[in-house]
Amino acid sequence: MYFKAFEVSIGTPMPSDAEKFTPMMQQYFAVKGGLPRDTLLLFRLGDFYEMFFEDAVVASRLLGLTLTKRQEAPMAGIPYHAADTYVSKILAAGKKVAICDQQEAARPGKLVRRELTRILTPGTTLAANQLDAQRNHYLAALALDRQGLHAAWLDLSTGEFRVATDAHIENLLPVLTALAPRELLVGEGELARWQAAPHDQIAVHALHQFCTARLCTELPAFHFDTATGARTVMDALGVLNLQGFGLASDHPALGSAGAVVYYATENLCAKPENLRSLQEYRSARTLLLDPATLRNLEIFQSIRGGRDGSLLGAIDRTVTAAGARLLERWLAAPTLELAEIRRRQATVEELLAQPPRLAALRAALTEVRDIPRILGRLQNRLRNPRELGGVKDTLAQLPALRAELAAFATGSQLATLSAQLQELPPLRDLLTRALADELPADLNDGNFIRGGHDAELDRLRGLTTGNKTWLSDLERTEQERTGIKSLKVRFNSVFGYYIEVTKANLHLVPADYIRKQTTVNGERYITEGLKQKEKEIFHAEENALGREKELFAQLVAAVLDESLALARTAAALAELDVLSGWAVLAREWDYCRPELDESDVLEIAEGRHPVVEQMLKSERNGLAGMQSFVPNDALLASDDAQILLITGPNMAGKSTYIRQVALIALLAQIGCWVPAKRCRVGLVDRIFSRVGASDDLARGNSTFMVEMNETANILNNTTDRSLIILDEIGRGTSTYDGLSIAWAVVEHLHRGETRGPRTLFATHYQELTQLEQHLPRLRNFSVAVKEWNDDIVFLRRVVPGAADRSYGIQVARLAGLPIGVIDRAKTILAKLESDDTTVELPAPQAKPKKKLTVKPADDTQMNLL
Ligand code: ADP
Ligand code: MG
Repeated sequence: MYFKAFEVSIGTPMPSDAEKFTPMMQQYFAVKGGLPRDTLLLFRLGDFYEMFFEDAVVASRLLGLTLTKRQEAPMAGIPYHAADTYVSKILAAGKKVAICDQQEAARPGKLVRRELTRILTPGTTLAANQLDAQRNHYLAALALDRQGLHAAWLDLSTGEFRVATDAHIENLLPVLTALAPRELLVGEGELARWQAAPHDQIAVHALHQFCTARLCTELPAFHFDTATGARTVMDALGVLNLQGFGLASDHPALGSAGAVVYYATENLCAKPENLRSLQEYRSARTLLLDPATLRNLEIFQSIRGGRDGSLLGAIDRTVTAAGARLLERWLAAPTLELAEIRRRQATVEELLAQPPRLAALRAALTEVRDIPRILGRLQNRLRNPRELGGVKDTLAQLPALRAELAAFATGSQLATLSAQLQELPPLRDLLTRALADELPADLNDGNFIRGGHDAELDRLRGLTTGNKTWLSDLERTEQERTGIKSLKVRFNSVFGYYIEVTKANLHLVPADYIRKQTTVNGERYITEGLKQKEKEIFHAEENALGREKELFAQLVAAVLDESLALARTAAALAELDVLSGWAVLAREWDYCRPELDESDVLEIAEGRHPVVEQMLKSERNGLAGMQSFVPNDALLASDDAQILLITGPNMAGKSTYIRQVALIALLAQIGCWVPAKRCRVGLVDRIFSRVGASDDLARGNSTFMVEMNETANILNNTTDRSLIILDEIGRGTSTYDGLSIAWAVVEHLHRGETRGPRTLFATHYQELTQLEQHLPRLRNFSVAVKEWNDDIVFLRRVVPGAADRSYGIQVARLAGLPIGVIDRAKTILAKLESDDTTVELPAPQAKPKKKLTVKPADDTQMNLL
């Protein structure tokens, strides 16, 4: 149990004065008292889950329920069968939900035994409707000590479990941000400690910010103990040591891993049964994209917040949920291992070479269900017939999938993937034989086992049908026996089956009818025979359902027996989904296979921006005058053209260009093909991207400080292998300040004797172009425009050399500034550009006579403040 001091909240009585309540309410307090704060307790009462006191008030507001009273206690209830929907809403509001269920059938005059069966939190929920199918759902724990940051993250819905330790927070925070955990765990008091860190410990403050921006739960510090954690983790994984996973038993992140397992166990009210392995994440093996870069390059979300307009949105062609989640993971941690990158690329190439096969594979994949999550639920006691249907449907696709894959040459990547798919014919046949075509979501609805699968079930069902036939015959036989033509046999939930006779015929009722109820129109009767049959029917139905549940348990056991094979198969299917999706993408948008090596070159011929290109195309049909995307080259090398300084008027395409270079490098490193004619990428270890303050719309306040903080982070963490994208750095302050900072930043990046990080720097500071004469590895480029009758035409082409002018006035005109303002600006500009710096001012106008003053606040306003 989670023993945290009982939190007394407004309206909830202390356990001490709980005696004055009924035994049932005392039962309620006993459960409620053990729960962590911010947890709404759903207490099962018959067909409802009830909430009391403050929980009821909160829930009624959140869910729009009517508040009632019971023994003076505020109360609100939801029907048990609709609980899922309500729980989703509560979780979405960032609260936790505890479920307390009845453990036995209610008997009059006796207190029903109730137990806490589950705590649902955003990071530990498993129900399909509470999970985003396309996203991973991590619960993460973090601990910080002198050795560094120790993290563990678990997706309970799939069993994916990882640990990581890094001496530098900056190396771990990027991947954590990219994985976007739903819930965080930290030791008690840690948040306050991190917040109070000295101002110059930027990374600790970033960590604090990361935590407070998410649902973060504090646990007593001893749950983060390494030795305890190691034991907890080994117990959950069912192993005697962690050597099999390449982990020492004193790995410093095991404390965090233990906290994660502890918390998951608490919330499941049982040990998680789907943890099979624990992998170590090493930041040295992945390309790091820090949080600001993820945002600026719009990797997972566009600046507006949606998936549309993001890189992920543009390259996602997956058709399965598990595939979509794998793509997210690959994008969150692009690899630095050439062999792995080449393996993915080669698979895409093999698929592209066989268009009809590719189409057939994609078609079969659309029928594949979410096996990792189905297993997660089955293993953790969340079981219903539809989950088994998902396994059956997936297994049914495997023969076709393997047949298509078998056609690829032996030794090919696809042959290897094919070998990982296990068809499991006995399980497939069992499920096909046993499961009905239509499957209910609730076990108690019955009828999910196909007739003919089990003789005993068929016999029990036969009894019910036999009796039901007797019943339907009864109406006719009784009509004949009594001579009452309008006699009816009916059923309701209060009496069960009964015979109805209208008033006019009451004199014909035989003596063996037993009267049960008088209605406006007549009388209702039962007979001994009818009651006997009714009993048999109910009994048979109950027995049939009981038998079905037994069979269900056998089927679940058969599936779980193969869980390892199923999980492996699902992993291979997810890969196949992502990679075949990339093949489709490459064909659709004419991508090329980039060459990757250990060099420090970045060479792109006719590159395009993967997102803007698709956006322009989709808008072109609607918007007149939209041009298609203009491709551009790029050539960087850390010992040669190390820094490209891009100038050009506003709207020319500078930001688009420098981002497209970064996105192409990133795509290359996840193994995807890239939007270019030709491309060579020397492995990149980090991508940094920063945008000058006034472009950083999403953040708004104090942006200059943020910009400088982030720039500091780059300058401190970059290596010669990094790729840096700086967009209008320095714009957030006055011209001279900004220019000086930009200037110094460029010099700093160029400080190495022979080499430095590959950098693209877009700027409107014309003055910076002089640097080319002093810094040998800096090259000027500009985005070309054409002047035509005092108008400018954007050519979108990046050409060597600095832009000669900034064309601000022409751009302003395109933007629709009044013609008078444009003319005046031109006059001023001409003056400023000639040596004559005196600008002719218009004759002063008469000042307005009446003075405007600010009215002093009156008393009422003062009071309000
Ligand atoms: P800048 O940073 O120079 O002000 P942007 O990169 O923001 O300019 O580009 C302005 C607009 O021009 C973009 O929104 C995009 O629609 C268009 N654009 C940019 N580059 C290209 C290109 N290569 N081909 C076609 N349109 C482009
Ligand atoms: Mg720009």
